Amino acid sequence: MSSLLIRGYEVVIGLETHVQLSTQSKIFSGASTQFGAAPNTQACAVDLALPGTLPVMNKGAVERAIEFGLSVGSHIAERSIFARKNYFYPDLPKGYQISQYETPVVQGGTVEFLVGDTLHKVNLTRAHLEEDAGKSLHEDYAGQTGIDLNRAGTPLLEIVTEPDMRSSVEAAEYAKTLHALVVWLGICDGNMQEGSFRCDANVSVRKPGAPYGTRREIKNLNSFKFLQQAIDCEIQWQIDLIEDGGTVHQATALFNPNGNGGRGETRAMRSKEEAHDYRYFPDPDLPPLVIAADWIERVRAEMPELPRAMAERFQREHGLPEYDALAVTQSKAHAAYFEAATAACKSPKLVANWMMGELARRLNAEGLEIESSPVAAAVLAQLISRIGDGTISNNGAKQVLELLWGAGQLREPPKSIDSSYVDKAIDDLGLKQLSDTGELDRLLDEVLASNAKSVEEYRAGKDKAFNALVGQAMKATKGKANPAQVTDLLKKKLG
Ligand code: ADP
Ligand code: MG
Repeated sequence: MSSLLIRGYEVVIGLETHVQLSTQSKIFSGASTQFGAAPNTQACAVDLALPGTLPVMNKGAVERAIEFGLSVGSHIAERSIFARKNYFYPDLPKGYQISQYETPVVQGGTVEFLVGDTLHKVNLTRAHLEEDAGKSLHEDYAGQTGIDLNRAGTPLLEIVTEPDMRSSVEAAEYAKTLHALVVWLGICDGNMQEGSFRCDANVSVRKPGAPYGTRREIKNLNSFKFLQQAIDCEIQWQIDLIEDGGTVHQATALFNPNGNGGRGETRAMRSKEEAHDYRYFPDPDLPPLVIAADWIERVRAEMPELPRAMAERFQREHGLPEYDALAVTQSKAHAAYFEAATAACKSPKLVANWMMGELARRLNAEGLEIESSPVAAAVLAQLISRIGDGTISNNGAKQVLELLWGAGQLREPPKSIDSSYVDKAIDDLGLKQLSDTGELDRLLDEVLASNAKSVEEYRAGKDKAFNALVGQAMKATKGKANPAQVTDLLKKKLG
């Protein structure tokens, strides 16, 4: 927790994240959770809270919560309680939301991530199971509002952090790490546009050493960019207010990225409810959720290798630096790509470099996921092998990648070009390095003969003169010689 001051204030942030769990059916009913159906076609009697219906706990939702807890080192409560959170809103048919209050299923835990090259740890307070509400649709109704209850009863895991974060960048990195983790575990589809992963940011500021300031909570941030921007706006707003002699009042706010002349604005929606406003009490319709130790062990046994464990393994087995290991384990697809390419070319560090460099740049530029890279792992591996065996230079390889990328994109599916394309592309581009030593020998002799002055300077102890000779040699070979080979040969020739 590095404390970075903004206009003399320290920033304090805690995040609450709603993660939609990827079960087929809802948390307390058998209705489908599929996104995008016609309004109200997926709301059954339980979701509608018709009299006489009773909720039945979805085992899959509980298992996903357990998986999450195990992945961040939480305590899994042996016995947890569902409570009714009472409030009135048109999209909440029962008049209460079933949630967990005093005794949540997941308690404690830590999320670790890098910001730059510093390791940050954010402690979790809890993660609890709850049902989502429906949606109010303000569009397309000519001034009226429609209610769609398809989302009512969709399972959510709300993950709450301690107020441990000290900058908007740190909050965004935490959220990215959490997102990658739940997608990796397969407990959430991670689709932020569809609302499967939404963050509420609690923000306060204080003078260093002072007690925590009063927070405001910015609701429903569904992109990392908005999360960071909203926090930045809120920080400035709070500092302005305090510097003008005002006091921050606890409130719930919404972020409008277009407000304040395009600079973004956080605007209070309502003064913040206190817990007692919700009149929480245990839901008499649901028994306590009891999780036996052997159930936890069964879930643990089914879990995939976690990203951090995999990153550590890559450091150990392939000698990757920590930064690289974390980069190539940012998603399962990245890890699979890295492992496939490394198995094929046996150059893990080069694979990581290309994945973090050229490949990432090209994928980003075109908004592509690595799964649909026009250059598949086997093709990149072949390219890297051709650098390794001296056929092409690093720069040549970039040109080959350019050509392969274009060829790959013309194909259906894009990644179907095979690795033999690499050698063909090298030939087509005329990039093969001069590995015929006879030819190189002759060219180097010419270079030495026509640069007598540099040779003399070199012999007199001027290292710079040697670089000039290498430069001349590369020029004479039209860049096709391997610089390391040229250096070796020149040194030999000069004695
Ligand atoms: P509530 O249940 O009313 O939302 P909590 O005490 O559970 O309140 O806290 C919600 C979130 O707010 C947590 O993530 C917590 O870390 C964060 N938080 C609490 N106090 C502060 C503060 N002073 N500044 C920033 N965040 C805070
Ligand atoms: Mg809360």
